[in-house]
Amino acid sequence: FFATVPLAPPDVIFNLTASYKADTFAKKVNLGVGAYRDDQGRPWVLPVVQEAKRRLLSDPNLDHEYQPIAGIPTLLAGAAKLILGADSVALQENRVTGAQTISGTGANYLGASFLARFYRPGAQVLISRPTWANHRNIFVGAGFEVQEYAYVNPSTLTLDLDGMLASLNSAPEGSIVILHACAHNPTGVDPTEAEWARIADVMRAKRHFPFFDCAYQGFATGDVDQDAWAVRFFVQRGFELFVAQSFAKNFGLYGERCGVLTVVAHNATLAKQVRSQLEKLSRSSISNPPAFGARIVSMVLSDPKLYAEWLDNLRTMSSRIREMRECLRDELVRLGTPGTWDHIVHQIGMFSFTGLTTPQVKVLRDSYHIYMTDNGRMSMAGLNSGNVAYVARAIDEAVRQ
Ligand code: PMP
Repeated sequence: FFATVPLAPPDVIFNLTASYKADTFAKKVNLGVGAYRDDQGRPWVLPVVQEAKRRLLSDPNLDHEYQPIAGIPTLLAGAAKLILGADSVALQENRVTGAQTISGTGANYLGASFLARFYRPGAQVLISRPTWANHRNIFVGAGFEVQEYAYVNPSTLTLDLDGMLASLNSAPEGSIVILHACAHNPTGVDPTEAEWARIADVMRAKRHFPFFDCAYQGFATGDVDQDAWAVRFFVQRGFELFVAQSFAKNFGLYGERCGVLTVVAHNATLAKQVRSQLEKLSRSSISNPPAFGARIVSMVLSDPKLYAEWLDNLRTMSSRIREMRECLRDELVRLGTPGTWDHIVHQIGMFSFTGLTTPQVKVLRDSYHIYMTDNGRMSMAGLNSGNVAYVARAIDEAVRQ
């Protein structure tokens, strides 16, 4: 029967990393995958994570038992407090629940599986145009019809608020809307607070369900509370909602697969019902989640000293990325590269949606060994003081061709 199985195309991002690794050119640059690198271009193990690991490994009582189906309770509590705020009314009213997941992807997946089973049959899922490619994979995989809402104006590379509101308005009532909590991937364009308020108004009027995806808390503004603003605002506005939280980027724990699906319900009874079904879904898919990364995150979130150190580590990452934005913009301006480049510094988070065209991206890859996705998205974390001038020169030459 295997003969009937068609060959699936390779994953774009992971394929790009493989091509980069196979490239033997000394000055090659990987601006594809959204993974933080230090100024030497190396993966960065956060010092606070090293400290948490040291404490974990020196604990003589550390064992490798199964965790509860919904995950480590202190992780769930810490994750909820991180995204909703310590003073969250929803937390005080005991109507927040959640489940630990296989990083942010798993949180999206668990949320999608839950909605496929319990949300109104036939409901559409709306994703931004463009968005993280896996949103479509996950929600189509869960059986949903997936439509797009307008998000970014391709000529100005700024938010197309009118287009977005029009899309949300014309979608069937009660659609599920995937919203990036902050640091939108791939555009780096986030709504302002006033724009979020308009989005919330339409979501309320149309009774849409907000499903926030939060993979970059701390990477947008460098302030975890500010980056949680939109989610907290929707909670204050009385929405029931999901938040898929990833700790891959903000803890540098990419491979440990630590995430949480946090759920805000209208009351504690509903939260309990939802939680029971999330547990049932987790039991049949992963049985119970992995412990190591979750122990690290949980320890850091619940220890005030480690927490302060983590915020500091986060600022190290977000400010280096911001510096690289400025360096790249300044270099392009200095070279007189045709076009405008201020959007590189205005966009936030890990990525810049450069506006480079697919043929230009191909020139960068083929002639300069610089790897980025065909849509012109650049992972700013791949830039450093040793390669930014080279990248700017290559962009300059690609744009002039
Ligand atoms: N959502 C978005 C928007 C992302 O960019 C990512 C990471 N690329 C994720 C979710 C999930 O990543 P992970 O599963 O590694 O936490």
